[in-house]
Order: sequence, then structure tokens, then C-alpha cells
Amino acid sequence: MLANRNLIEFSLLKSIELDETFKSGAYDTVDLKAQDLENEFSVAVEKGAAQEEEKSLVQKVGPRITKLKFGNIELETPIFMPVGTVGSVKSLSPEDVYSIGYRLILGNTYHLNLRPGMELMREFGGLHEFMRWPGAILTDSGGFQVMSLAKIRKLNEDGATFANHINGAKITLTPENVVHIQEDIDSDIQMVLDECTSYPATHAEAKASMERSMRWAQRARTARKKQNRAQFGIVQGGMYADLRVKSIKELKKNDFEGYAIGGLSVGESKREMRRLLSATIPFMPHEKPRYLMGVGAPDDIIDSVLLGIDMFDCVMPTRNARNGSVFVRSKSAANGKIQIKNAAHKTNKGPLDTECSCYTCKNYSRAYLRHLFVAEELLVFRLLSIHNLQFLYDLTEEMREAIRQGKIFAELPHIRKKYAPGSV
Ligand SMILES: [Zn+2]
Repeated sequence: MLANRNLIEFSLLKSIELDETFKSGAYDTVDLKAQDLENEFSVAVEKGAAQEEEKSLVQKVGPRITKLKFGNIELETPIFMPVGTVGSVKSLSPEDVYSIGYRLILGNTYHLNLRPGMELMREFGGLHEFMRWPGAILTDSGGFQVMSLAKIRKLNEDGATFANHINGAKITLTPENVVHIQEDIDSDIQMVLDECTSYPATHAEAKASMERSMRWAQRARTARKKQNRAQFGIVQGGMYADLRVKSIKELKKNDFEGYAIGGLSVGESKREMRRLLSATIPFMPHEKPRYLMGVGAPDDIIDSVLLGIDMFDCVMPTRNARNGSVFVRSKSAANGKIQIKNAAHKTNKGPLDTECSCYTCKNYSRAYLRHLFVAEELLVFRLLSIHNLQFLYDLTEEMREAIRQGKIFAELPHIRKKYAPGSV
């Protein structure tokens, strides 16, 4: 049965302070010390000319558990969200995704608007009914395509015009029509159209791009015809902490239901990404959901949860699965991953991951999965995707439980070693 839904209700169940995160040394990663990040944060405060009220917010961030509720759909964060760009999480049925435990998935405005188009979407009353998904849906605005399809689009103050990748016909995304497309999709969380700043970009380029995104965010906020779904603003500013602080200050004027960090994981180093997160997250409202867009590597999830990110999405687990690349806990491979096509698995009767309870690991051997992959049998896409999504589900669940029990700092070395041994 499809769910009854209404506007997102957000509650904070437990949070640990940032100070404590840094003092515990929990943030020390491969090439970054918690101390570096604290310094980075101080610089951002000065450069961003933060007001006293914003300085006070920094005391309230750190790892946390929150509850998101959309009518009778409830979930607790931190969570990963599987990506179903064109109305399906590739190779999986909605039942597969739901069975793992997921209750919130992504769709993409740019792609769904092209195919199947909004006329059909309206006839079905939205994407939930069209794809028969009983959980909640977040739709990305097309801002990422503004960057990734830069070769086939023109950008101006009004919006972005694409020669679409299916038949070349021109389509324009504006901050306003992106809101209306998402209203037709009837997604529970709707993202504003932004310009995902290209990488690398100079300070002047990133500033101009961020300022345009902020004007677009304001237009998106006033374009809504329906007020019964959540709309999230997106922080931009490229690799410049001061611009990101300014971006948040602008967004907060619109009092969005949640705030996302965009424009990271676009080619910068992990060190750079952590530096920016530590300078950005402390300024994001404590009492609203925080979403880090396009990030899903296990070590990135772990480090970002420590700073107070609630939501993640990435195509990586399902895309990797289709390439035969599988996340496994360190007991099953010292570096945390296996390539199923490797001859080493040819006669292996064991599961992908001895500590995993997913449908694939409960039922199938590495030898069988390798055979399917080598024989190019389609079933392997489904089986490996189920496993990779279960892996990230389990990672966020384990972190959530450790936060709930107040043991996150004690458990952290174990969680890092288990789920992201490459980064320890
Ligand atoms: Zn598994």
C-alpha cells in the first residue's frame, strides 16, 4: 500500500557537540588532524564575517540522530539514499530497495522531465504511484546536470537551456519550472535549481556562480504553488569557505525545510572536501536536516556524520555493482572491496561478505556471482546492487546506534576499520 504523506516533520533525537568531536580526536583521518579542521573553521568564521548568533550555532553541531517523518513514513538519520534517476534504482525493484530497509530514494528532475515527461506523471498523480514506491522521494533539481552537461547547455540569469541528450530538442530549466516539475512528480523533498560550480574555479568565478544560485533559490522559494512538500536550499561556493558561509547566510533568509551542501565530490581531494565540510557544517541550521549531495564513499560518510550530516546520496554503490566492484567489510577483504570477476573467486563457495545479512550473501556464493558476471547474466546486476546498498545501510545504522548509545567515539576506530579499511 502506498503511504499517506504530508510535509516533512523534523525532530532532533540526539546530538553530540562539535567541540567534543574535535577534542576526542575522532576526526583525525589519514592526512588530516582534528586540529587542522578547527583552525580551518576559525578562518571561515573570520572570512565569512559571521555574526555572534552564528558563532553560537557552532556549539550545537556534531554527530546526531534525527527523525524525518512524512505522514506515516518515518525514518531516522544518518541515512544513505539510493539513487533512482529515471524512476528506478537501476536493476532493482522498489520491493528490493524497501526490503533492505530504505524508505527514502532519489529521482532526478532533469531526466524525469525528459522521459516519461510530466503529462504522464500528472496522470498517475506523481512518481510514487507511477513506480509503486511506498516510501518517500527526494528529487534533485537538475543543478548537477547544469555542471555535468556543460557542453550541451547555455546558462544565463533566467536558467539553463539544454539540447537534450535524447533527441537534441531544446529544453530550459528555470528556478520556477523546476519547482513545478517537482510538484508534478510530487516528491517529498524538492531541491531548488542551483548552479553546481565547476571545478576548478577561481574565487571570482565561484562567487558569481554562488550568488546566482542564491538568487535562483529565492525565486524557487516564491514559485511554489503547493506548500505541502519540503523544499531544500543548496549551499554553493566552490572550494572557498568564506563563500560557503555567505551562501548559508543567504539561504537562511528563505527558511527552507532543510539545507544541502552541493558542489563537493566534484574532483577535489578528500582532504579538501573535509576542510570545506568543517568550515561549512557549523553554520548550517541545527534544527533542520542537513544533506551532503553526491557523496557515498564509506570513509566520506563516516567523517561527514561526525560533523553532523544527516543525509547522503550517490550513484556509486549501484554503479560499482554493475561494474562488478563490491564493498565488503575488512574481514572479507583487507582493503574493503573485491572485484567479482577476479579468478580468485572462481571456486569460492563463501558469500561476498561473511558478516553481511543481505539477500545475496544469505543465498549465493562468490563463485556463482562471478560466473554470472563473466557470462554477462543480468541477474548479477541485481544481486551485487542489493549487497552494495545493504553495506551502506548497515554502515549508517551502526553509526546511528553508536551515537544513540553515546559510544560513537569509542566505536569509531572499529567502524572505520570495518567499513573503510582503506582510510585507516
Ligand atoms: Zn551482502
